[in-house]
Amino acid sequence: MFATKGYATHAADQPLKPFSFERRDPTPRDVQIEILFCGICHSDLHIARNEWGGTTYPCVPGHEIVGRVVKVGREVKKFKEGDLAGVGCMVDSCRTCPSCEEGLEQFCDGMVLTYNSEDRHTGGITYGGYSTSIVVDHDFVLRISDKLDLAATAPLLCAGITTYSPLRHWKVSKGQKVGVVGLGGLGHMAVKLANAFGAEVVLFTTSPGKTADAKRLGAHEVVLSRDEGAMKQHASSFNFIIDTVGAKHDLNAYLDLLKRDGTLTLVGIAPEPALVGAFPLIRRRRSLAGSLIGGIAETQEMLDFCAERGITSDIELIAIDKINQAYERMLKSDVKYRFVIDMKTL
Ligand code: NAP
Ligand code: ZN
Ligand code: ZN
Repeated sequence: MFATKGYATHAADQPLKPFSFERRDPTPRDVQIEILFCGICHSDLHIARNEWGGTTYPCVPGHEIVGRVVKVGREVKKFKEGDLAGVGCMVDSCRTCPSCEEGLEQFCDGMVLTYNSEDRHTGGITYGGYSTSIVVDHDFVLRISDKLDLAATAPLLCAGITTYSPLRHWKVSKGQKVGVVGLGGLGHMAVKLANAFGAEVVLFTTSPGKTADAKRLGAHEVVLSRDEGAMKQHASSFNFIIDTVGAKHDLNAYLDLLKRDGTLTLVGIAPEPALVGAFPLIRRRRSLAGSLIGGIAETQEMLDFCAERGITSDIELIAIDKINQAYERMLKSDVKYRFVIDMKTL
């Protein structure tokens, strides 16, 4: 075991503060990474504050990790010391169930999350990327291009794959009209990616001040979702809508905007259940769906796609002692468009 510095929260109503803990020494299959940057996902806040239930404290969040390999186990062929590497939301899975066999490890019942999961190696819980180093099985470590800004690449490990995967699964492509609900970390990646896939992109926002940014990021049109008239103008016109809002809001208003056979996919995780009427669904055989991050192979595919197209996140780089302020700003939808921690400030 070796000593690692991080930031943890010790209770749902406590701020994050410095925390020292131990990581395992790398096994023959492991990669040890010096963390350089870690993105701040709204899931970190939901979990730090136990908004979904099931948080174990102390909790070290962080699952948008990029850094440099400092050590590899003897069975590791894909990485060597000095390589750039990334870790997203998962660090292990059962590897034998149908989901694992299909490369959909995110749906494996034995999937181990990067933080707040049982740690099979230490018997404790996993600690995430708000820390100076991490040790991860090589099958769950991603290759990172040196062509892109490294700090702006970190959010691809969650916000990037969580939006890429459903856009691919529902075959978003040229000629389709695609809606993105919410311009935060996930939403701004959804706008960039849907635009890169050739779709006509409409952003729905509650923040009038984000209109110009949304257009710069790749939205062809911006609709203020609290303007009922503006919403109605888009009735029954969308092939696909991805909803990134993690708070209570009306889903029926978005279902009404789908064409026949269109799909509204939730990626945002509001703590409380939503009320959905039967009529908006049955009228045009519309679907309401959900999507969870993406598998490891697809995450690599997304990283390679972004490297080729020069796609990264728009970030605000912060020192780690500003993390509690960043959480408060995220709660006010005041994020442009992902906070990333510069780990050398730890
Ligand atoms: P974020 O950066 O805070 O962005 C969320 C955006 O939603 C806000 O910027 C805001 O955009 C909009 N919004 C916030 N409150 C709202 C409200 N009450 N009504 C309507 N719109 C509201 O969060 P994020 O990191 O993108 O994460 C979004 C959600 O996705 C969270 O619940 C997170 O846990 C979840 N998530 C899910 C997965 C998955 O695998 N499914 C993965 C990662 C994250 P506007 O200002 O434009 O309205
Ligand atoms: Zn996340
Ligand atoms: Zn499995």
